[in-house]
Amino acid sequence: MSEEKKSFRDSIATTDEHGRRLWIYPTKPKGKLYSARTYFSWVLLLILFGLPFLKIDGHPAMLLNIIERKFIIFGIVFWPQDFHLFVLATLTLVVFIVLFTSVFGRLFCGWACPQTIFMEMVFRKIEYLIEGSASSQKRLAAAPWTFSKIFKKTLKHSIFFGLSFVIGNLLLAYIVSIDELVKIITDPPSQHMAGLGFMFLFSIIFYGVFAWFREQACTVVCPYGRLQSVLLDNNSIIVAYDHKRGEERKIVKRNEDFSNRGHCIDCFACVKVCPTGIDIRNGTQLECVNCTACIDACNSVMDKVNLPHGLIRYSSGNIIEKGGQFKFTGRILGYTIGLTFLLTLMTVLLVTRSDIEATILRTSGTLYEESDEGIIRNLYNLSVVNKTFKDVPIELKLKHKDGKIILVGNSAVVPLDGRFETVFFIEISKEELYSTNNVITIELISGNEVLEEVTTNFMGPR
Ligand code: SF4
Ligand code: SF4
Repeated sequence: MSEEKKSFRDSIATTDEHGRRLWIYPTKPKGKLYSARTYFSWVLLLILFGLPFLKIDGHPAMLLNIIERKFIIFGIVFWPQDFHLFVLATLTLVVFIVLFTSVFGRLFCGWACPQTIFMEMVFRKIEYLIEGSASSQKRLAAAPWTFSKIFKKTLKHSIFFGLSFVIGNLLLAYIVSIDELVKIITDPPSQHMAGLGFMFLFSIIFYGVFAWFREQACTVVCPYGRLQSVLLDNNSIIVAYDHKRGEERKIVKRNEDFSNRGHCIDCFACVKVCPTGIDIRNGTQLECVNCTACIDACNSVMDKVNLPHGLIRYSSGNIIEKGGQFKFTGRILGYTIGLTFLLTLMTVLLVTRSDIEATILRTSGTLYEESDEGIIRNLYNLSVVNKTFKDVPIELKLKHKDGKIILVGNSAVVPLDGRFETVFFIEISKEELYSTNNVITIELISGNEVLEEVTTNFMGPR
């Protein structure tokens, strides 16, 4: 590769050699893949905006309340006590991402990432609608501030801010639930200063990202993008330029015969359409979000010069170099085995997960008491978390031992979606004990069902 062609490595496409921002004006994509992505984005947007409204038994189907550390995923409540599940789920997700990326490259970025969906399928389309094509946008940016320019820019940014406000509210609905969001909007502002503050903050952040920061979220900030160089290998399916077919590239002459030259006619259609401003013909680059716009652009050029589609296509480095089909490598097999193991473990833990979680500890700083009749008494603290959406009355019962449990207070009902705490005594006859430190098991019962068994210690005399 010539030194001139290698210069793309010196800086990212969105900055000049002095590090100043270069604004990208991509040509509006057109083609089969762009249409497919548009329809797919409608489905994803519907899911994204519909999920906060979906309820199961009157409760949100999805809630990611990081403030109160409470999560509801498809109707199942997760508490801080389920932290081990959270760690395992994160680990599974990481392995899934590694596996998925090593096979399909950045397919997720181009087709399903909310940043790409909102930027390319919502904000960018509004921009084309108001400011026109890429060249019109460029002209408008360079033009003096006439009435027409002020009108177009004000209209665009007002709509952008309105949409950012809606997206900010959507995010808030995922965090605090849609009902709480409605309260924040309808109650007097003084009652929800924090909620309103976050609403404003999210709106500003989203406006900043979609109106100004744009593709830099993918090329500079996104950690997934940064990981591409270690996740991809020569067998990964990526958006790739077939350099064997395309080179030696040169501008086409009228009625030129392609049998003795490369198929790339150096028209730059693939570069002009790229939302991250790169030239895919330079090979796989970190900035490529696999949006497929260059595939559509090149295919339409190939139509014009009567050549087959696919000079830029989904393919792997090895397939382009050596031909053949996608290979299931040892690396993929290893990840698949790891992922299957984690998914199985996750499923078992979820299925066997208890709806009630109890912690029983001897009250610290207390000793046992002994009555004249030889009954030994210990004091305990009980804390029970109810992960369901109904109140659960509970009873405590000693297992394998004769003895009595005396709860402080009349009834023990764990409130729905909440925690119950109390203290209680356990009385056991001295004859039942075998040492100073006896292991005992307590059953938590609701109705006829044993919800949980907790093992703890019971102190006694020598
Ligand atoms: S669109 Fe196709 S033909 Fe045109 S420069 Fe890109 S790769 Fe070459
Ligand atoms: S190189 Fe092609 S697939 Fe990659 S970001 Fe640019 S247009 Fe999208």
